[in-house]
Amino acid sequence: MFEPRAFAVTQNKKEAEGIFTLALEPADGERLFDFEAGQFVMLQLLTQDGSVWAQAAYSIANAPCETKNTIELGIKVEGEFTQRAVKLEANDEVMIRGPYGAFTLKEHEGPSVFFAGGIGVVPIRSMIRELLLCESKEEIFLFYSSRTHAEMAYEDELRDLATQYSNFYPVFCVTRGAEDGWKGECERVNIQMVQRYFSELKMAKYYMCGPVPFMDSIHEMLEAEGVDLKACLHREKF
Ligand SMILES: Cc1cc2nc3c(=O)[nH]c(=O)nc-3n(C[C@H](O)[C@H](O)[C@H](O)COP(=O)(O)OP(=O)(O)OC[C@H]3O[C@@H](n4cnc5c(N)ncnc54)[C@H](O)[C@@H]3O)c2cc1C
Repeated sequence: MFEPRAFAVTQNKKEAEGIFTLALEPADGERLFDFEAGQFVMLQLLTQDGSVWAQAAYSIANAPCETKNTIELGIKVEGEFTQRAVKLEANDEVMIRGPYGAFTLKEHEGPSVFFAGGIGVVPIRSMIRELLLCESKEEIFLFYSSRTHAEMAYEDELRDLATQYSNFYPVFCVTRGAEDGWKGECERVNIQMVQRYFSELKMAKYYMCGPVPFMDSIHEMLEAEGVDLKACLHREKF
């Protein structure tokens, strides 16, 4: 059990339609806790008198190897909690508990394949950044599905990483109509699509995060291909 700790907002940046990245540092200036790529924290929002108003879980979006003091949270605006969270400004205080979770990178020789649906990209961004920045030489595939291009967070950054790291292959999928000139796929992730980019299905470790129907369809797709799901597939449910 972790004690809640005060963190101060250092930045609140719009990433995409309805998605913001909140950067936070320990308010006392002390060292950040250790965490693993893919883990999450409990974010507690405070009332004016400093008591806890409400809390919810958010995955850490940045990679442990690239940060000394900052955690980034990628937040999709939905109900009252997130509407308040994305209005936070620099120097506002929140409480953080954690880190928690076992959706983390597993030791593995061979490709790592990530499936992200919508805001499920957040922990996957952390994991991919960790692998690349720690100079992993293994192939890394990302299938990132978003309803619309406007709602796709971190796209430019992921495309930039692919130009810097020749072992990283991101595939961007828009499911509700793409604009002219769209550089990506225009349908849901499916086995024909996956095999256009990557065919050694039984050699990989798989990680997925997104809406339940999205994860169910990926699960079925890999199961039908005979992948040992118990050993090879790791998932985070929001
Ligand atoms: C492991 C995990 C990781 C996750 N990671 C992410 C992530 O990276 N990004 C992301 O966007 N989402 C993530 N989620 C989902 C996230 O935790 C929230 O469920 C989601 O953001 C819903 O936001 P909301 O605004 O609809 O919340 P709300 O439905 O508004 O509620 C959130 C909490 O606030 C309380 N609350 C809301 N309004 C009030 C009120 N008026 N008075 C008192 N309490 C109130 C609710 O009771 C609840 O406890 C994750 C979930 C899990 C389980």
